[in-house]
Formats: sequence, structure tokens, C-alpha cells
Amino acid sequence: MSSVPVNISNDIRKRIFIGLMAISVLLLGCVFVLAWWVVSRRGILVNKIVLTAITAAAIFFLILLGIGVFALVWSLWRTKTIGPLQNIMSTATNLLFPIALNVGKWIGLDEERIKNSFIQVSNQLVKTRVYGHQIKRVLILAPHCLQWKLCPHKITIDIANCRACGRCPVADLQKLAGEYQTELLVVTGGTFARKVIKDKRPEAIVAIACERDLTSGIQDIEGLPVIGIINERPEGPCSNTRVNLKKVEEAIKYFQQGGLH
Ligand code: SF4
Repeated sequence: MSSVPVNISNDIRKRIFIGLMAISVLLLGCVFVLAWWVVSRRGILVNKIVLTAITAAAIFFLILLGIGVFALVWSLWRTKTIGPLQNIMSTATNLLFPIALNVGKWIGLDEERIKNSFIQVSNQLVKTRVYGHQIKRVLILAPHCLQWKLCPHKITIDIANCRACGRCPVADLQKLAGEYQTELLVVTGGTFARKVIKDKRPEAIVAIACERDLTSGIQDIEGLPVIGIINERPEGPCSNTRVNLKKVEEAIKYFQQGGLH
């Protein structure tokens, strides 16, 4: 087991999603007990063997989810990875995400805030997982909305078309990618991003996007370590967005140095 550096402000954000996951497991438990009560007490005709099998499967499923959430809390709290439980933690996180999101919205939490919390949790899990392992082939995926909206150059076709005029963060990102010998690609959406990942076969990804695209992207790309960086939107969504270059650099360095910087 290994230890990763702690970020206190991110810890506070993570608690939102962890709390919602715990509530989701409890909710699923209640739904199951209610369904079981209705079926067994109201005389609904269900074969006893079938009912026992469904009950056993549901209990097993709930226990697995509970273990996943408990392991996640422990891993985040101690900032240590639990190798054998890594898959259970990821599965519990992805399965409970839609329920946690709806529970959060139902109790009045902002959707973007919940997704932000999910991204912090996911980033921490990835960091604990790769800690101590140096990953060289890192791909930086940036959204098209980072490009200055009046720029005439087709950088999604070839990033080398950027003239580095400095009007948008693309030039700085390109410089950063060169410094760390990583590849930078600007993508127009999830389908393009998935295709690029399939073609390039990176070992790790630093993905820049809004909360919505990052949450769906992280869930899509299971198995590959992804650190998500939320973009800044001073002019509203999808137009002339910005990114904190320091965070991008930290994420690249984390992968390349195995968190040992
Ligand atoms: S930095 Fe590159 S992509 Fe951005 S506006 Fe200038 S030429 Fe276009």
C-alpha cells in the first residue's frame, strides 16, 4: 500500500459524492427490503426457489456495494490504495453514480457540484492507484471550446496548425506537451475522444473538459487512468473557455513521476 499527497480543499468537495454514495446504498437496501416484504407478505405468487435466489443475489450485490463504498472512504481518508478492492471501488462508484446524482438533486444540491465532487473522488482514486508507477505515454485531451472562437486554424485536424498567437490556451498547452514529451489533441466531443484513445493507445490521460463531459468520459474510459481537469468558463459554456495550466502540468508530472515529485 502506498500514500499520496493530500489536498484539503479537494477533500471537502469529495465528501459530497461519498455521502451521496452512502445514502444511495442505504436507499437501495430500503427498496430491496420493501420489495421483499411486498412479495413475501402479500401472497404474490413467486416460486420459493426463485425468490431465495433473487434475495441472495440482491444481498450479495448490496454487500459488494457496501464494501466498495467503505473501501473508497478508507482509501480516500488514508490516501492509500487497496489493490485487491480497486475494481470493487470503481464498480461501486460507477454503479452508484446515477443514483447518487438523483439523490443529490432531490435534496437540492447543484448537479454541477455533485459532478465536480465525483471528479475529485475519481482523480484521488486514480492517483492512489498509479502512485509509485511512472507512466510515460500520457495523452492530453483538450476540448475544442478552449480555442479562440474566431481562430481560423483547424487544430482538431492537426494541432500543428496552431500559430501560437497566444489568444487562447492552446499555444501554452502545446508548449507544455512539448516540454513533457506528451501528445496534445483537441477533440470536438466524446465520440471523437473515444476514437482518438483507441487509435493512440495512451497509458494515461489528462482530460480537460466541463463537469458534464468529464463525468461521462471518466465512466466511459474504464481501466485507463484519467485525471480530469475542469475547465474555466468566463464567457459561459462552450465558448472561449480557459484552463489552469498549473493543474495540467501537475497531472502530467504526477503520471510521469508516479506521484513522487
Ligand atoms: S493560440 Fe493557436 S488556436 Fe489559439 S487562437 Fe492562436 S492560433 Fe488559434
